[in-house]
Amino acid sequence: MTGRDWLEKAKKENFAIGAFNVDSLDILKGVCIAAQKQKSPIILEFSQGEVDYFGLKNVADLVANAREEYEIPILLNLDHSKSVDNCLEAIEAGFDLIHFDGSELPIDENKTRAAEVVRAAHEKGLLVEGEIDKVPGSSEVHKEEIDLEFLKKSYTKPEQAKEFADAAGVDIFAAVFGNVHGTFAIEPELDFELLKKVRETLPDKFLSMHGGSGISAENVREGIKVGGIVKVNINTEIRQTFIEALKEKVNEEPTQYTYYKLANDISLAVAALIEDKIDVLGSAGKVE
Ligand SMILES: [Zn+2]
Repeated sequence: MTGRDWLEKAKKENFAIGAFNVDSLDILKGVCIAAQKQKSPIILEFSQGEVDYFGLKNVADLVANAREEYEIPILLNLDHSKSVDNCLEAIEAGFDLIHFDGSELPIDENKTRAAEVVRAAHEKGLLVEGEIDKVPGSSEVHKEEIDLEFLKKSYTKPEQAKEFADAAGVDIFAAVFGNVHGTFAIEPELDFELLKKVRETLPDKFLSMHGGSGISAENVREGIKVGGIVKVNINTEIRQTFIEALKEKVNEEPTQYTYYKLANDISLAVAALIEDKIDVLGSAGKVE
């Protein structure tokens, strides 16, 4: 099944596929272990920083190997790429989904550049995600409160979203309706009425929800049910789980200098988190 087939299935059957950021091999393994156990499709995603860390070809090969080894459908996504060139390189390298994030550009320029990525991606049958309303925050644990009034200014305007998505030809649209990157002291309030409107205004597009880490299970389920969200991006919680597990192992075995002997338990900690996420997203058992 292609990326489009999977997202169509998710849309029809009302579930979402988790887009999990990978910034270490142990995270990659943990996510795959969980997906295999839950018989769930997954999206493994890499930001440009993560791509640079692994090397683009290594990313493509690691994911190709993981598909065989774990026998699960894995879609490979370039996450929040701000550069058309980087998007084109990823298309060449064998990614399935490309998120071109032009939300910091003037909207016309965002449209033109996104359209360029779409042309190259569609030639290979790949999908492109577009974004106009910058998802606020960053994938970190924030101690400060969220400024709700400030956030509201960045919410998606459905008509503008439709105009952009149609003109650029993107397949997936990153909706902003109160979701933020990272986790904050209080959970952001989500505007489901707005999300419903975005869904009605863009019936032919797939919708994604970024900032899945700081959102309660109940609200993620609601976003899938009422908002038709088919892709949920999760990063911060995975990073947190990984680093906490790493610290714990090092403390537990302070004289162990062979890293791979510590690594298995770290992957299993990540796998436990991902199993919970897969349960919330409703993607378990979708692989026949
Ligand atoms: Zn994001």
